[in-house]
Amino acid sequence: MKIEHLGIAVKCLSQSDDLFARLLGKPNYKQESVEREGVTTSFYELGESKLELLEASQTESPIAKFLEKKGEGIHHIAFGVTDLKTEIERLKKEGFVFISEEPKDGADNKLVVFLHPKSTNGVLVELCQEKPQKVL
Ligand code: ZN
Repeated sequence: MKIEHLGIAVKCLSQSDDLFARLLGKPNYKQESVEREGVTTSFYELGESKLELLEASQTESPIAKFLEKKGEGIHHIAFGVTDLKTEIERLKKEGFVFISEEPKDGADNKLVVFLHPKSTNGVLVELCQEKPQKVL
């Protein structure tokens, strides 16, 4: 595992894009909406890892609720794995609880699952795996 990215919840993506571009000295490399999750994301490369800014695109989305409860800040930590299914099985045996055990399409060409923060010291943990390249 490695830290693939940190997810940061923000109220206004355009303002935060401006801020993080100045902070990191370079622009984002991608902006992408995940409609199913009600979120718009913006990605920054940071060495081997990335930052993912998350803005709610729907008032009832998980990010909107997070912002309401906790305000802006670190939302989740994402571990990059090479074999998502095997890691899910391993962690289930270790007693970890998943929000959903079924991998879903995430932003930035990833399959993702989330562990429930109750079982990870209050930290929302995402596991993500690069999606296999589509054969054309
Ligand atoms: Zn993420």
